[in-house]
Amino acid sequence: MIDIPSAKADILIVDDTTDNLRLLSRILARDYRVRPIADPTQVYPAVRFKPPDLILLDVMMPEMDGYQVAAQLKNDPMAAEVPIIFVSALHDVESKVRAFSAGGVDYIPKPFEEREVLARVELHLALRRLQQELRSANEELERQNQALRQKMLENEALQAQLREQAIRDPLTGAFNRRYLIATLTQELAQAQRTGAHLSLVMMDVDHFKKVNDTYGHLAGDAVLQALVKLVEKQIRQGDTLCRYGGEEFVVVMPNALQEAAYHRADAWRIAFEQQPILYEDQVIHVTLSGGVSSNRGLPLTYETIINNADQALYLAKEGGRNRIVSWLTAFSPLGD
Ligand code: GH3
Ligand code: MG
Ligand code: MG
Repeated sequence: MIDIPSAKADILIVDDTTDNLRLLSRILARDYRVRPIADPTQVYPAVRFKPPDLILLDVMMPEMDGYQVAAQLKNDPMAAEVPIIFVSALHDVESKVRAFSAGGVDYIPKPFEEREVLARVELHLALRRLQQELRSANEELERQNQALRQKMLENEALQAQLREQAIRDPLTGAFNRRYLIATLTQELAQAQRTGAHLSLVMMDVDHFKKVNDTYGHLAGDAVLQALVKLVEKQIRQGDTLCRYGGEEFVVVMPNALQEAAYHRADAWRIAFEQQPILYEDQVIHVTLSGGVSSNRGLPLTYETIINNADQALYLAKEGGRNRIVSWLTAFSPLGD
């Protein structure tokens, strides 16, 4: 409901004595819009029809006294908010207390003084306006809070998305090269502190150019996605699969001896070979080659470990592809 400040306040005056009703109406009609009601049973319907800003309520009336009218109003949330000033010829403390416990905000004794009526009415109207302003300010604040909370949630989601995008390859969902270097650096430092072995597998799809040429670039994309899906399913927790380049992938395996890494990479190779890739109505058979290297518990740089894996991969290609070569076996005569 919109309050127009310049609109006159709407006051319900309830009194079964017509003279009182007329007198009060005359006093208040100068500054306010008044609705005189002589029949107390008509108060509730009138409030339901349009809640006034204030009610002046006589206490002693036939059929229904003022307390009963008040109780009826307080029972309905829509009517309960309207402030009630009791007007009564009963001057005993008991009656006044009862008026307040019935939900009255004030009590005007009869016979009333015109100036006192005006002063009390104006006071309670002002209080009500302040209350309404406070409430709508609170509501506005709550709306703004809600919008802010929503915005923060959206921001967090966006930031998480950006963080993911910064470290993932969009085609396959594998981590990207930047993430590989960061992870490898960190894992190597950790391995060096504890003397653990860290191994690395570098894989490359065989004759991938031919896959593209034969089945199309999108089919080639599907092959890369299938490879990532397959390897991701098989790597262990703590291992990191990254797309190193076009059709080259690297898996970092902390706490894995080169020998163990070799066997696991060979298992991926076999699984990949045995799982043809379906793209549209085409069945594509692809293989991969891999090179394995390790820090062997030594203080090697990540460049050395990647280079060693690359060299081993080169030998796997030279040796006929669809195979894994371990750098240790191929290049270290001592086998250390
Ligand atoms: P080799 O067995 O020696 O590895 O031969 P190859 O054909 O796999 O290797 P080469 O490096 O000659 O070709 C790699 C091809 O991979 C060339 C490039 O167009 C393609 N490629 C790189 N990135 C993508 C990609 O995101 N999607 C597709 N479909 N192809 C890609
Ligand atoms: Mg290749
Ligand atoms: Mg390549």
